[in-house]
Amino acid sequence: MSKEQHLTRTEKKAVAQERAQELKSRIEPYLEARETIPTGFKITEEYEAQKKKILEVLGGTEEDWNNWKWQISNRISDVEILGQIINLTDKEKDEIIEAGKSNRWTVSPYYCALMSKDDPNCPVRLHSLPQMAEITAVEGDADPMGEEFTSPAEGITRRYPDRLIINVTNQCAMYCRHCQRRRNIGEVDKNRTKEELKEAVEYVSKNAEIRDVLITGGDALMLTDSTLDWLLGELRKIEHVEVIRLGTRALVTVPQRVTDELCRILDKYHPIYLNTQFNHPKEITQQVKEATDKLAKAGVVMGNQAVLLNTINNDPHVMKKLNHELLKVRIRPYYIFHAKSVAGTGHFKTTVQDGLEIMEYLRGYTSGLAIPTYIVNAPKGYGKTPMLPNYLLDIKEDHIKLRTWENREIKYEY
Ligand SMILES: *Cc1c(COP(=O)(O)O)cnc(C)c1O
Repeated sequence: MSKEQHLTRTEKKAVAQERAQELKSRIEPYLEARETIPTGFKITEEYEAQKKKILEVLGGTEEDWNNWKWQISNRISDVEILGQIINLTDKEKDEIIEAGKSNRWTVSPYYCALMSKDDPNCPVRLHSLPQMAEITAVEGDADPMGEEFTSPAEGITRRYPDRLIINVTNQCAMYCRHCQRRRNIGEVDKNRTKEELKEAVEYVSKNAEIRDVLITGGDALMLTDSTLDWLLGELRKIEHVEVIRLGTRALVTVPQRVTDELCRILDKYHPIYLNTQFNHPKEITQQVKEATDKLAKAGVVMGNQAVLLNTINNDPHVMKKLNHELLKVRIRPYYIFHAKSVAGTGHFKTTVQDGLEIMEYLRGYTSGLAIPTYIVNAPKGYGKTPMLPNYLLDIKEDHIKLRTWENREIKYEY
């Protein structure tokens, strides 16, 4: 018997209490930092005031605000209108106009209401407003993933044995400044025609090994209810399709898209998984919660694919808070993507060390539920590759040496 087992109950409890104290001290830096991180639930008052102002500027009603089609057709892409909503200097306005020329920008009124009026480094502003760096630092490829070379049929991207993407539209409620498919955004919104979608469905039906189909874009939820209903119905007719996934940022940029009618449609075609992209805790609001409550009730399983972005979230505390806020609204953190070298998005790039540090401060420090996989996409579409701090220090015939989350090195015999 080990020494500890000879201890009395009181002595054992004292050991546990000491350990609890040590564990408590491990989380103190986060508890302190957490207070300074803006979250969507904390800015409700500012949001309501901004919403009122935007409705005045655009001439809309409360009912309009809650209608996703109004949100889309009233997307803001005029710097003078934006200037009536947030405080912009002339220099900032010029910058948006200049940098926005080569890649259009547009923001839904809802997402605009989350912007800080004064802080140019507000994560919502950085996500959606063009910066000079987009045109001054243009290293990187237009298409680093070589998507054009992994499309065996119209609208399809295939990089894996058993699953593929159907790309249904180039439209979004807001064009992320870090978008990896910015080359597809173009000047106008383009949905794929039914003929093109039929071709994609036919490819899936002819390839029996495809069991998981991702509908994405652009934003899969920019399709109308009737097109989605039709497409999901067509895919569900294919016996070998087990799982259907939707890729969308609508939950982030226009949560009004999640209507009762949409939920009724999705509920017909289970299992439906929905993957979204929240990158900062400020994006998770009461409106998001109302949308995810509806989706969860309709049986949709939700995951988050964050992108690691310089100044927005390349900070262990911000990333941890993001994952906690996601779990509160029933979205499971799934991936953190390392930002790719896409021309015009260099200012968002981080080091892989940043990503590994974030992973180091998640494991052990917080629930496994709050820990996504950190992924670097291999160039040329060779696939998502997981990156993890090293926990296996040595491996032998009968034992390993492991490193715990607190950096203890322990020999483990088996
Ligand atoms: C990301 C991706 C998928 C899905 O990958 P998972 O790891 O299963 O989430 C499928 N096809 C393509 C082309 C992708 O880029």
